[in-house]
Amino acid sequence: MCSRHDKAQYRRELQSLQQSLRDELSSCEAALQRIEQGTYGRCEVCSEPIELNRLKADPLTTRCLECQHRH
Ligand SMILES: [Zn+2]
Repeated sequence: MCSRHDKAQYRRELQSLQQSLRDELSSCEAALQRIEQGTYGRCEVCSEPIELNRLKADPLTTRCLECQHRH
């Protein structure tokens, strides 16, 4: 962890972690918005309820299995 290269690498990895945190946060905010609007758990494409197992596996998912595969 002492060479210049390692530091640059470290910084890049940190930046990519920060970016994925930001992405996750905006997904969370979008999910919270859907909760407030009462549309959470509904597919954003076909408006059908998203499978419960799917939501449990990924609570931030916005599409039902069928639409996920189609897009
Ligand atoms: Zn759908």
